Amino acid sequence: KLELTQVWKSFGSNPVLRGIDLAVNEGELVCLIGASGSGKSTLLRCMNLLEPVDEGRILLDGVEISDPEQDPQPIRQRIGMVFQSFNLFPHMTAAENVMLAPRRIHRLSRAALRPEVEALFERFGLADRMGHYPDQLSGGQQQRVAIIRALAMKPEVMLFDEVTSALDPELVGEVLDALRRLRAEGMTMVLATHEMGFAREAADKVCFLDQGRIVEEGPPSAIFTAPREARTREFLRRVL
Ligand code: ATP
Ligand code: MG
Repeated sequence: KLELTQVWKSFGSNPVLRGIDLAVNEGELVCLIGASGSGKSTLLRCMNLLEPVDEGRILLDGVEISDPEQDPQPIRQRIGMVFQSFNLFPHMTAAENVMLAPRRIHRLSRAALRPEVEALFERFGLADRMGHYPDQLSGGQQQRVAIIRALAMKPEVMLFDEVTSALDPELVGEVLDALRRLRAEGMTMVLATHEMGFAREAADKVCFLDQGRIVEEGPPSAIFTAPREARTREFLRRVL
């Protein structure tokens, strides 16, 4: 379980997160929606300790992880993140990309990792692509490899930032299927997305961000059909 209380974050004099309170329960899929610049990516980056927060607390299973004094590295291993750009190493095969971090951090050999990595590729429909280089894979396949790479570290929580935005429309579905699968398997997930259809269908909770605040949150049935706040209605009118 991930809990944020009164998280504030500024870049220079620009306040980007202004008192975020958010709870992500185990096995939940929380979707962050909101206009460009509302703070979705910054919020995810703070959750993963890629950005230090200015104020407030982030707890992972009841333990504060936002303390700037502690080493963020072991915590980042517990919270996987996947980005819009897949960032695979072009000179390594899909399988080598996936094995890189576990080999370095858990000091495991390729042979020891092999069965687990094969199972992951199998699970996401890429069993026959392990030996391919990124430029031999479609965007959707590369993004699924990026998801597998994050999963190989056995994270407790997965964060996804616009993971379908860079894909051709016909490839979006296979990545959303991978997210559906993870959700069905009980992974705890936070997803910043412009895919309103997916948020509506798959989220347990939807949070609408506006200028660094969660203006409204609730189950998708409430947010999408009966938003309480004028700003939510305005946003949905523009994007739906
Ligand atoms: P989008 O939908 O376009 O991805 P977003 O909701 O993810 O938008 P953020 O990327 O979190 O929004 O940006 C929120 C604000 O913070 C923007 O005004 C942006 O310019 C600013 N910002 C983000 N990262 C930095 C940074 N590293 N330095 C300075 N300003 C930043
Ligand atoms: Mg963003």
